[in-house]
Amino acid sequence: MDKYTIFGNPIHHSLSPKIHKHFAKQTGHLISYEKVLAPLDDFEGYVKDFVISGGRGFNVTVPFKVEAYDLSNELTSHAKTAGAVNTVKVEDGRLFGHNTDGIGLVADLCENLGLAIKDKDILVLGAGGATKGILLPLLEQKPARILLANRTKSKALDLANSFSKFGKVCGFGLEQIKDKPVDIIINATSASLDGVMPDIPSGVANGAFCYDLMYGKKTPFMEWASSNGAIRVVDGLGMLVEQAASSFEFWRCEKPDTIDLLSSLKEIAD
Ligand code: NDP
Repeated sequence: MDKYTIFGNPIHHSLSPKIHKHFAKQTGHLISYEKVLAPLDDFEGYVKDFVISGGRGFNVTVPFKVEAYDLSNELTSHAKTAGAVNTVKVEDGRLFGHNTDGIGLVADLCENLGLAIKDKDILVLGAGGATKGILLPLLEQKPARILLANRTKSKALDLANSFSKFGKVCGFGLEQIKDKPVDIIINATSASLDGVMPDIPSGVANGAFCYDLMYGKKTPFMEWASSNGAIRVVDGLGMLVEQAASSFEFWRCEKPDTIDLLSSLKEIAD
């Protein structure tokens, strides 16, 4: 049986073992997949032990995505541009780093939710690790432009600058967002984790498709979007399942079907 795992800290909340066990059953692959709480000061040691024990691949979540990037011997283009790795394949002791977060988001938006991104104006809130992972896959869909707004304005400016070779991205502080509708708003801040909605003008949501990367409960961003005229409001559960499917494909060269799993997880969440 091929061994896979997810490293994080904290990790108790992770749905990844459930998702990957479902994919393995569906595709007939014989794998094990466990969650492991790695200590903040010894992620590298845990990775080494896992590789020595014959592990074939692993996912990485908060706060180890940049360390996983640094430890990888080779990187895919998505990992390189993101500067972060959430999926590692182990071959002959070498680590191949990939980033499936943005691929998962775009699959959920375009395939599951039927949203066309081409020529749309997208407002992305936040400039942390998740935003780094989603910008390239979003830009590959050729939106008209991405307005990237962050509480710490300098981070939005730096990120917009480094991604501008892939498409039109403009960086702002949250306080500079105009009170004018956009087509799509993606909340990639961690504010929802603290039960907070960033302070931005309400008019921006009018008629917009609003997506919160956070999942599992109706977030303050989702409440705000619903009460300010959004046409659709969605959480990040679909992104979670799709990024996992993309990791599974990276490891096993077979893309699992996600629709049944997504509906059953949504039923549990509702
Ligand atoms: P980071 O810690 O790297 O970045 C956090 C971002 O949120 C920063 O831009 C920060 O701004 C901003 N922020 C935090 N609190 C506030 C606030 N009160 N008001 C305004 N902005 C705030 O987190 P990640 O990028 O890794 O994760 C972001 C979110 O995405 C999390 O909720 C995470 O759970 C979710 N996620 C979901 C995934 C999925 O599969 N559905 C996958 C990956 C992430 P500043 O720079 O000023 O500090």
